[in-house]
Amino acid sequence: MTTATYENTLAFAKEQDQNDPLHKFRKEFHIPTDKNGKEHVYLCGNSLGLQPKNTQKYIQEELNDWSKFGVEGHTEAKHPWMPYHEFLTEKMAKIVGAKPSEVVMMNTLTTNLHLMMVSFYRPTSKKYKIVIESDAFPSDKYAVESQLDFHGFDKKEGLILWKPRKGEELCRFEDLEKIMEEHGDEIALLLIGSTNYYTGQSFPIKKITELGHQHNAKVGIDLAHGAGNIQPNLHENGPDFAVWCSYKYLNSGPGSLGGCFVHERHANDSNLKRFAGWWGHNKQTRFNMRQEFDPIPGAEGWQLSNPPILSMAAIRASLDLFDEAGFDNIRKKSVELTGYLEFLLQEIEGDQIEIITPRNPEERGCQLSIKVKNANKELFNKLMNAGVIADWREPNVIRIAPAPIYNSYEDVYNMVSILKELL
Ligand SMILES: *Cc1c(COP(=O)(O)O)cnc(C)c1O
Repeated sequence: MTTATYENTLAFAKEQDQNDPLHKFRKEFHIPTDKNGKEHVYLCGNSLGLQPKNTQKYIQEELNDWSKFGVEGHTEAKHPWMPYHEFLTEKMAKIVGAKPSEVVMMNTLTTNLHLMMVSFYRPTSKKYKIVIESDAFPSDKYAVESQLDFHGFDKKEGLILWKPRKGEELCRFEDLEKIMEEHGDEIALLLIGSTNYYTGQSFPIKKITELGHQHNAKVGIDLAHGAGNIQPNLHENGPDFAVWCSYKYLNSGPGSLGGCFVHERHANDSNLKRFAGWWGHNKQTRFNMRQEFDPIPGAEGWQLSNPPILSMAAIRASLDLFDEAGFDNIRKKSVELTGYLEFLLQEIEGDQIEIITPRNPEERGCQLSIKVKNANKELFNKLMNAGVIADWREPNVIRIAPAPIYNSYEDVYNMVSILKELL
């Protein structure tokens, strides 16, 4: 669909929903409501995805098996707990474009980021600097600074920010190239968010990876806002590692487990340093307990502990929906749905709305970040009161993220109508 074929009417939005092959997935989710039971316009899947209706059932199954089997659930449960993380791998791998052996669900995002830096940030006195994008999520910045500090480097000097130019909102790839030309000898790691949480800009993973590798730097990708939103094609694009969480676009519940990708080229590298735990040890001899650590080849070898089954049950419930819908279809709808949001925002009279997210669908996921002229948080609060759940970032940005698996064209239409009335 092109902009020319969109229409600014409720009837059009409803018709799009009727013709949308993924529209049926909406009823697989609990949509939050107001006190009177009226559904909110929920456009905040970039922060916390909605609960699939099956989640309770999947978790309840594990609670039942625990009460029935006790410890024997590790082998006797319908989905035995011992290999439980393996039930997630294949479906997760498809969503991030990886081979199953390159992916594992474990820990949480920031923990995984540290574990990956233990292995892939191996600074020397000459080559120790880390590049991140300037508006990186605070947790990533803290993690990186603490790694620099841990290795005895000055965290100001060791951290290089890839910044938008003065007066611009978005980062330009040429500027990253320039950083690498000027400081490549000193840079040990590039850690870039695939999709920036603030501007919604998606970065070219392949180009970044090639650039980093040309300069002998390792490349890590933070997929917090990418997993379940864009297709990062991790295997093809070739970064050394990637980390993500599953509670945003992947709808696995607050604080649920994160994901981790280690590229196949590192699967059997016994020279890599790592922080180890028993769940990363060879499955055949894990319970012998008296062995030297013998890591499982691939991403699973970075596991530390036996993982929380209840959280993984929630991830299974969500991944089953993604798998049924097909991620290519989800992404296709996403491009059209966000295109519709963009179209409607542009229809608002005057120049009150500035969309700071890139206009090229290849350079963004579903989220649009907008600035409203002369607006403050008051406007955002009014939107919330009118039943629109979006997200406010100081000083003046509203983030709107129609998640294609449960949001409708009607949601998008209603959101913009309400915004227009408030202006
Ligand atoms: C959401 C998000 C996080 C959150 O980290 P947790 O360890 O899951 O709490 C970290 N980094 C980025 C870029 C995020 O968007």
